[in-house]
Amino acid sequence: MSHILPIATSQESSQPVPLIDLVAQYGTIRDEVQEAVQRVFERQSFVLGEEVTNFENEVAQYCDSAHAIGCASGSDALLLALMALEIGPGDEVITTPYSFFATASSISRAGATPVFVDIDPTSYNIDTDRIEAAITRRTRAIMPVHLFGQCVDMDPIWRIATQHGLAIVEDAAQAIGASYHGRKAGVLGSVGCFSFFPTKNLGGAGDGGLVTTDDKDVAARLRRLRVHGDIGGYTHVDIGINSRLDALQAAVLSVKLQHLDSWTEGRRENARHYEELFEEFSLTDRVELPTEVTEQHHIYNQFTIRISGGIRDEVLKRLRERQVGCSIYYPKPLHLQECFSSLGYKAGDFPEAERAANETIALPIFPELGAERQRIVVGELHHVLAEIDAEMFPSVRRAA
Ligand SMILES: *Cc1c(COP(=O)(O)O)cnc(C)c1O
Repeated sequence: MSHILPIATSQESSQPVPLIDLVAQYGTIRDEVQEAVQRVFERQSFVLGEEVTNFENEVAQYCDSAHAIGCASGSDALLLALMALEIGPGDEVITTPYSFFATASSISRAGATPVFVDIDPTSYNIDTDRIEAAITRRTRAIMPVHLFGQCVDMDPIWRIATQHGLAIVEDAAQAIGASYHGRKAGVLGSVGCFSFFPTKNLGGAGDGGLVTTDDKDVAARLRRLRVHGDIGGYTHVDIGINSRLDALQAAVLSVKLQHLDSWTEGRRENARHYEELFEEFSLTDRVELPTEVTEQHHIYNQFTIRISGGIRDEVLKRLRERQVGCSIYYPKPLHLQECFSSLGYKAGDFPEAERAANETIALPIFPELGAERQRIVVGELHHVLAEIDAEMFPSVRRAA
């Protein structure tokens, strides 16, 4: 290998490695972005308009969706999708308790009730075998989340949705460019929801979101709902919300969409390289790496590893002390969040989600990371684990 660095074994730590580095990415597209921003300022048209329409068309084409409707955030995309499907009070939507908050809050904001189903411990996505048991007379939709950038196993979801007449609202906030059997995230259900929060794989210069659908009526409702249900001339046919994509965001996102596939390739290469490094450092029986399920194109919005044995928080603390950027997605499952206490769930209800919340750590995976810094990350993790082992099992160490 061409760039072997010394393994950090001493007390002092090596070069800091950030969890994500948007400055590095900006450096590669500065001129294009500035040109786009300037264009918007010259036009002084800031809300919806041509920039947004162009970007919507580009995303529709990218995902092979008939329609794409920009909005203010991924959270609003989910809310608008539920509103457009006329899901509200009295209705239930089945989803995962192991996701970002907005997955479940969008259901509550629509007036409906989130119903959680535990996750599959390997993919961290909803366990499709458990969905049918959660269906009631009130169930209207399933909201699968393509967590960390890998699509949910959609075949069983399609079968269940068809059998029970349910809509599918994809939370594809972490999954733009991911695919399932050759079809892109966002066209795997009735409605697909994306987020352009800056740290997502396609991130704007602020908040942004988008909804995809092949249904022309749902698309028309979405376009109305994002402008207060106005069909023109202050004539309101729905009680909508104010949730538009800004022209500035659309212009920046159009530039970045051109680079998305190459960035995704960079993330995937980093994932392969992590696999080699974990082998090399003999960490593969100690740390569970993300599994890419066959026929699924994982886009690694996060590279999430699992460390069992109750030491995750200690590992996180020490990695951070040694300047390795890492984070927990997510430390508390949604069914245990205080604001959802009225749903009546308790600890122990979803053991796999709870275990994942206690055992996972996300490591840096951004495209510009580079092999040398990956070696630092794995080297530091190796060091931290050896240190913790020595403290926990001093006798084993003495014997060895
Ligand atoms: C980021 C995210 C959202 C919300 O998107 P925002 O643009 O931040 O509102 C929803 N669901 C998941 C799974 C996310 O990761």
